[in-house]
Amino acid sequence: MQYQRFTADVVFTGEAVLTQHAVIANAQGTIIDVVPLEQAGSEVQQFNGLLCPGFVNAHCHLELSHMLGRIPAHTGMVDFLLQVMFNRQADAELIQYAMHNAAEQMLGHGIVAVGDICNTANSAAIKQHSSIYWHSLVEISGFVPAAALQRFEQGIAVMQALQQHQSAAQMSVVPHAPYSVSGKLYELIAQQTQTVVSMHNQESVAEEMLLTQGNGDLLRLYEAIGVNIDFFTPKGNSSLQHVADWLPQQGNLLLVHNCHSTADDIALMQQRQQAVYWCFCPRANQYIGNPLPNVPLFIEKDTRICLGTDSLASNHSLSILAEMQTLQAAFPQLQLAQLLQWATYNGAAALGIQQQYGQLKPGMKPGLLLLENVGANGDISHSSIQRLC
Ligand SMILES: [Zn+2]
Repeated sequence: MQYQRFTADVVFTGEAVLTQHAVIANAQGTIIDVVPLEQAGSEVQQFNGLLCPGFVNAHCHLELSHMLGRIPAHTGMVDFLLQVMFNRQADAELIQYAMHNAAEQMLGHGIVAVGDICNTANSAAIKQHSSIYWHSLVEISGFVPAAALQRFEQGIAVMQALQQHQSAAQMSVVPHAPYSVSGKLYELIAQQTQTVVSMHNQESVAEEMLLTQGNGDLLRLYEAIGVNIDFFTPKGNSSLQHVADWLPQQGNLLLVHNCHSTADDIALMQQRQQAVYWCFCPRANQYIGNPLPNVPLFIEKDTRICLGTDSLASNHSLSILAEMQTLQAAFPQLQLAQLLQWATYNGAAALGIQQQYGQLKPGMKPGLLLLENVGANGDISHSSIQRLC
């Protein structure tokens, strides 16, 4: 049996930071062992930098890849949403081509698994032939309660179309956001038995204003799309608190963005029986013009954090390293090991695939990355990624 042996200045296993260690893998990339360097035998390939498992992108929209550069940066949430709604149509071949390139780009950036939001089944064929692990999160929206059943059935139809190409275990139907899903629709979604559920959460000030006070810029969105929401009555609490009782109680719950989440929101979620993951997509926040989440608060409250890129409609590239760099620039106190755990093990655990991804452990095939040009104190501002296996 032919083995590959790798060592670098530091080995991050997904949980532990080791020095003077080597990673041994077989030709297919399955991890055989992580051992002290002196036990690694001969022909150890030596690198400068850090070895770690492949990255997990916990939140993406592959099917919006053709929208790269179509929406200007800093429009604010409502104009961003309107542009996605009205400008997402494109030639079917162009959509497929852009998705193919985006998936290749993610592989090049060391991404091995993706939590992918789907409003259509457009991504089915790409996923079937991809070496990336995909969990398709079929997203449903509809703020008008009377339309709940119809919207739900449309979502189920998308899921069934995706299931022609992808395992049912790698699929969920999920609510879009607190401001776009009625209580009735939440109830229909919550009746599904699923391992992973996600929701865009507390992304913009407009979302908080609508759900808390019944006013703000989202009224302009509903007017623009001709939906009367006079029926809606705010409860005076945050958008997450408004919908918390309606969210599915089972499966991992991924809350995405969390730019306006507070200690009260975190405390409420910590009472739940299910595992709650807070997924940050900082470059999309910056692109749209939303604030970054209060990352130190989430650390202080000992929450589970993972990372996503969101889509190429609101990002310049699909790179988890770039998201880590953005967070480190904004919060210099963040430790590199923390960021790496969010990018690897936590993302895998959020998608329920921590037995295969996110850790360098014997028998697993998580991908092996070399993070180069790591500066003093774990500074990754000039770092790049190379995939070793
Ligand atoms: Zn998103």
